[in-house]
Amino acid sequence: MADCLFCKIINGEIPSTKIYEDEYVYAFADIEPQAPFHGIFVPKKHIDSPAFIDGENSIYVAKIYEAIAKVAKTEKLDKGFRVVANCGEEGGQTVGHLHFHLLARRYLQWPPG
Ligand code: AMP
Ligand code: ZN
Repeated sequence: MADCLFCKIINGEIPSTKIYEDEYVYAFADIEPQAPFHGIFVPKKHIDSPAFIDGENSIYVAKIYEAIAKVAKTEKLDKGFRVVANCGEEGGQTVGHLHFHLLARRYLQWPPG
């Protein structure tokens, strides 16, 4: 998608601090971290939001969760972490490319605000 911020990050038009990459997934440090560790995991194919996951593209979601487990291991997030996918206006989504936040290294409140 020509005008999508995260598509531009994936193709290198906008710089990012890479955390992980494979055929399906790109992960980078959030520019406004909400925890001492805050990564953003995105599919390398443009999908608008969690509301657009279907049988054709769900392989990307599976690969993202595999990537998260790998990064949690290499980053030694043994005390735990949180994975968040915001969806739509009321869900707090500000970038229209499916993404999963990986937050760690502090106690996280529940329920969220
Ligand atoms: P959301 O609010 O769930 O849509 O999450 C979007 C996230 O993208 C926010 O946490 C932003 O801080 C993050 N973000 C926005 N622009 C950039 C950027 N250029 N590099 C890294 N993270 C970004
Ligand atoms: Zn995109």
